[in-house]
Amino acid sequence: MLVSSLFATMMVPALPVQAAGIRSVQVGEAQIVIRFDEAVGGATSFVLAGPDRIAIDVSDAEPGPAATASSSLVASVRQGRPDGQSTRVVLDLARPAVIGRGSFSADGKALTLAIAPASDGQFEAAARSAPRAITNPAIGFSKPPRSTYSVSTTLDPAAKGLPRPKIYGPKGRPLIVIDAGHGGHDPGAISPVAGQREKDITLSVARKVRDEIIAAGRFRVALTREDDRFLVLRERSAIAKNLGANLFISIHADSAGGSGATGATIYTLSENASDAEAAKLAARENKADILNGVNLGGENAEIASILVDLAQRETMNSSSNFANLLRREASSDLRLRSDYHRMAGFAVLKQPDMPSILLEIGYLTNSEDVDRIASETGQRRIATGLRKAIDIHFAQRVAMR
Ligand code: ZN
Repeated sequence: MLVSSLFATMMVPALPVQAAGIRSVQVGEAQIVIRFDEAVGGATSFVLAGPDRIAIDVSDAEPGPAATASSSLVASVRQGRPDGQSTRVVLDLARPAVIGRGSFSADGKALTLAIAPASDGQFEAAARSAPRAITNPAIGFSKPPRSTYSVSTTLDPAAKGLPRPKIYGPKGRPLIVIDAGHGGHDPGAISPVAGQREKDITLSVARKVRDEIIAAGRFRVALTREDDRFLVLRERSAIAKNLGANLFISIHADSAGGSGATGATIYTLSENASDAEAAKLAARENKADILNGVNLGGENAEIASILVDLAQRETMNSSSNFANLLRREASSDLRLRSDYHRMAGFAVLKQPDMPSILLEIGYLTNSEDVDRIASETGQRRIATGLRKAIDIHFAQRVAMR
C-alpha cells in the first residue's frame, strides 16, 4: 500500500523540456520491450529484493500509458519518476527473475531487455550487483546519461577514441595485453603504509611483465597504458580486443579493512560473485567508470548470467585454466593466497571471446605486501611468475589443436 501511494506521488509530473515519452511497455515471457516517441538518453537496470522487483531507469523520459504484463514472471508493471529527469519502470515479480542483456534499436526509440527465471541464489546475487547501464547508440556521448550517482568531471580525451598502443615482440606470435589498473585522476587504492598509489605500482609491474615476456621472445605484448593516464574500464578490454589479444591480464593491488590480509588473488569473470567480498571488490573496481562522469559500466554487448553463450563459457573455462596454471607454476613468485582463485563480475573482464584475468598482486594495507609489490625484486618475481604460466598456457593451446 505504502509503496503504491509513494509511486502515485512520484508520478505527479515535473517534466523537463523535450523529454521523450514512453509509448508502450511490453512484458513478455523472455523479453521486455519499452518504446518511446523520441530517442532517450540511456537506461539503467537493476534488481531489488523484498519485495522482489526489477527496475529500469530511463533517462530523459516521461512515463507513458499503464501497461500490463503477459508473463508468468511479472505480476504488475508500474512507472514513476524517481527524479525530475528519468522514468523508472518497475516490474513487480511473481517469482524470482533476473534481467539480462539490453540494447536500444538503431533509432534509439526502443529498448529491449531479456528477462529469465532465476534461482533464489541467482536472484540474491543479482540484487547485490551494481546497476547495469545501457547506452543508447543513437544518442552516443553527446548526451551523457544524467545518472544520479555520477559526479561531473570532464571526460579525458582518451575516452573519445580507442587508443592503439604499441605492440612489442615478433610478428605472428600470440598477443598478451597487460592492463595496469587505474591511472590519471584515478589513483586506485592508496597505501596507509607509506602512501604508495595503486596506479603507480600497477604501471611499474605491467612494464616489468612486458619486459620479461619480450625477453623470452615467444610472444607479443602491449600495455593498455604506458603512462599515467585514465582509461575507462571497458576501454581497457576493448583496446585488447581491438588489437586481437589472445590473453588479457589486468593488474591491481588490493586493500582491506585491517592490515592482516596478505597475498595475491586471481579473479576471473563470473556473473555470480564467489562470495560477498569478491562482489564488494568488483563493485569498487567497477566504480572507476562512474567516477569519470559518464557511466559506461555496462554496454549492449554485456553478457548476462542467464544468456551466457558457449563462447563465453569456453572463455571462462580458459580464464579459469590460466588461473590454475598460475597456481601451479607461480604460486610462490606471486605469493598467492590459499583461496587464490575467486570469481566476480568485473567489467574489465567481460570480453566474450578473450581469456581474461584480473590479478590483485597483494594488499596495500599490509606492510610486507607493500614491501614486496612496490620493490624492484618483488615486481620482477611477479613478472617471472606470470611469464612461466603464460608459456605453459600457450603451449597447452598449441597441443590441443
Ligand atoms: Zn584496483
